[in-house]
Amino acid sequence: MIRIEDIVEKVGRNHPQADLDLLRRAYFFSAREHKGQMRASGEPYLVHPLEVANILADMRLDEISVSTGLLHDVVEDTLVDLETIRKYFGDEVTLLVDGLTKISQISNVSHEEQQAENVRKMLLAMVNDVRVVLVKLADRLHNMRTLQHLKPEKRKRIAQETMDIYAPIAHRLGMGKLRGELEDLAFQHLHPEDYRELTVQLETRRPVNEAFLKEITASIEEQMHESDVPYVRIEGRIKRLYSIWKKLQIQKIDLNQVYDLVAARVITPNEVRYCYAALGVIHNNWRPVPGRIKDWIATPRDNLYQSLHTSVIGPKAQPFEVQIRTEEMHHIAEEGVAAHWKYKDDKRGTRDDDKALQALRSLVEWTQEVKDSRDFLDSLKLDLYPKDVYAFTPMGKVIQLPRGATPVDFAFAIHSEVGNTCTGARINNRMAPLRSQIQNGDVVEILTTSNSHPSRDWLNFVVTSRAKNRVRHWVSEQQRAESIEIGRKLFEKEAARFQLPTKKLLNGSDDTFKRIAGEYGYGRVDDLLAAIGYGKLVPRNVIAKYLPPAKFEELDAQKESKLRSGMRAVKRLIRLGEDAIVVRGVDDLMVVRARCCNPLRGEEIVGYITRGKGVAVHSTRCKNVTQLMINPERIVEVEWAGKSDDAAYAVKLLAITENRTGMIAGITGAISDMKTGIRDARASVAPDERGRIEVTVEVFDVKHLDKVINSIKSVPGVLDVERLQGAA
Ligand code: MN
Repeated sequence: MIRIEDIVEKVGRNHPQADLDLLRRAYFFSAREHKGQMRASGEPYLVHPLEVANILADMRLDEISVSTGLLHDVVEDTLVDLETIRKYFGDEVTLLVDGLTKISQISNVSHEEQQAENVRKMLLAMVNDVRVVLVKLADRLHNMRTLQHLKPEKRKRIAQETMDIYAPIAHRLGMGKLRGELEDLAFQHLHPEDYRELTVQLETRRPVNEAFLKEITASIEEQMHESDVPYVRIEGRIKRLYSIWKKLQIQKIDLNQVYDLVAARVITPNEVRYCYAALGVIHNNWRPVPGRIKDWIATPRDNLYQSLHTSVIGPKAQPFEVQIRTEEMHHIAEEGVAAHWKYKDDKRGTRDDDKALQALRSLVEWTQEVKDSRDFLDSLKLDLYPKDVYAFTPMGKVIQLPRGATPVDFAFAIHSEVGNTCTGARINNRMAPLRSQIQNGDVVEILTTSNSHPSRDWLNFVVTSRAKNRVRHWVSEQQRAESIEIGRKLFEKEAARFQLPTKKLLNGSDDTFKRIAGEYGYGRVDDLLAAIGYGKLVPRNVIAKYLPPAKFEELDAQKESKLRSGMRAVKRLIRLGEDAIVVRGVDDLMVVRARCCNPLRGEEIVGYITRGKGVAVHSTRCKNVTQLMINPERIVEVEWAGKSDDAAYAVKLLAITENRTGMIAGITGAISDMKTGIRDARASVAPDERGRIEVTVEVFDVKHLDKVINSIKSVPGVLDVERLQGAA
C-alpha cells in the first residue's frame, strides 16, 4: 500500500509552498471515516483514496486537489456531511468534494448511447472548477485498474460508461495519456476475447516490432546528429490496443495493414523551428508518403494537441509514422489541462479555471494558435458549457436546453403535444411556475391536461425557438379563427344591405366569389374573410368586385339613403363579461372595452377592429382614437345596448382637497349618499400640501357618474374632482 508520506513528498516537490499539513490531516480524517470498510478486492477501503491521491500527485496537481482525492468518497460513503468537511478543510476542498458528490448522482442516470454526449456535456457544465473533473478522472482510473474484482455485470456497465463518458472527457481536456489508459482498460472488459486475441498477436510480433523501432530510432538519432539539429530524445512507441482494434473494426483490415502500428517520436527543445528542422531531416532520409503530412503545430487541434506527423517509407520498404514536437507540446499532449500546474508551481491558489486557462493560453500563444484552440479555451471558462443547461425527465432522459429555459421549453423539447397541453410543472418534486428557470441537473416533470392550450403569455418567457414557434403558431391559428368569424359577420352585414345571398357566397358554391378571393391573392374564401376580419379589406370593396358596376352604384346609393334616413340595421346585444355593447348591425362580434379609456355607458363610443382580438370599444374622448383614425376602414359603429341598470363599471376618481382630517370620511359619505358602491379609497398628501384622495366607484352610466362627482364636489374642503384614465 502506498504511503501518505510518499504522496506528501511528491506534492512538496512540485509545489514548494504547498500546505502539506492539509494532506496529512485529510489522510487521517479519511482513514478514520473509512475504517472497517472494504473494497471488493478485500483490501481496506483506504487504499482507494490513497491511490487516487497518488494519481493526482503524479499529475502534479496542487495540495487542494490531492486532499480532495483523499476525501472524495467520504461524504458519499460515510456519515460525514459537507459542513464537517468545511470546518476541517476549508471552502476550496469543500467545493471540490461537493462537485464530486453531484457527479456521482449523474452516474445513476440511464446511459443510452445517444445521450452519452449530453451526459458528458452536462457533467462539464455542472462543475465550475476543472479540478473536480481531474479528481473524478483519477477516481475513475483507479476504479478501472481494479475492475476485475467486480461482478461481470457491473464491470461491463462501468467499462461502457468509461468509454462513453470519461475517456471522451479526458480527450477533450487534452489528457492523452489518461485517455489511452482508460480506453484500453474499458476495451479489455467490454470485448475480453478481442482483447486477448489482439494481445497475443502483438506479443508474437513484439520482437520484430521492437527490433524495427530500435533500428529507426537509432537511425533518426544519427541523422539528427549529423545535421546538427538539437533534440531532447527519440522515442519509439507501439500503437495502443484500443486504437488498433478500432482501426481494424472500422477499416476491416488485419494487423499487417495497420500503417501506424509503430511510430517514432522526436522530442525537441522548446522552439518550434527545431520541429520543422527535424521534419526536414526525416524527409531527407526516407521518402514521405504523399498526403500523410499533418501540421498540428500551425493548426492545433481543439484540445490544444500540437505536433508534426508524417509517414515515411522506412527500411525494407516498411512504412511508419514519425511524430515531432517540442517538450512542452509533448507535456500538453500527455497531460492536457493538468499540464499547466507544472509550469506555474511558483504561484499558489490556482482556485479558478480562469487562472488555469491563462496558463494554458500562454502555453499556446507563442505557437500563434488559431481559432480552433481559441474555441476550446473559450469553452473551458468557468462554465465549461455556459450557454446550455441539462435537465432530466423523470425517466432519466437528458434534455439539453439553452440557459434561461423554462418548463414550457422543456415540454416542447420532449414533444409538441406535451408542450401544447402543459399546464404545470414539478421541478425536483416540487410544484414550480411554468416561467421558472431550469437549473443544471433539475428533474423536470411536466403536468398536462388533455384539452388545454398554449397561452399567449408564454411568449414572454420561453427561450427556445421551438417553443416560440409552436406558441406563435397556436396563437396565430387562434387569431385567424377569430378573424375569419369577425370577417364573416362584417361581410354578411354588408352583403345583406346589397341583398346578396350571403350563404351561397360564403359556403364556396359560388365560383365568382372564389375568383374574387384569388384576385386579392387569397387561395381560399376563408383567407379573404380573415383579411376582412383583420381590417385589411373593406367588405364594400369586395362586393363592388362582385356586382356589375351599375348595379353596385344603384344599391350603394339606396343603402346610403336608408342609413341617412336613420333606419338602422338589426341591432343585437353582445355580451362580454358584464359589458353590454352593441356593434351596429353585427351579430355576435367579440367586443372588448378598451383598457386605455375604460368607456362608460352613455359615453360616445367607437369600435376598432383589432388584429385578431375582435372589436375594441374606445371612448371618443380617448387619446388613442385620433391615432386609430389613420385606418378608417377598421372603424366600426357601436352603441350601448340594454337597460342602464344591468351592469356597473368601476371608475377611478381623483379628488383634490384641503389638507385636513376627515376628508376621506366626508367623500365616502357623499358617495354612499348616492347609493353608489366604493371599491377602493386611498389618501395621500401632494408636495403642494394639498390632499389627494383616489376613490374607485361603481357607476352604471355617465349620468350616474356626474351625480357622484357633483356630490363629492359639494363636500366642504374638496377643491376639484376629476376622472382618471384607464380601468380601475
Ligand atoms: Mn472513489
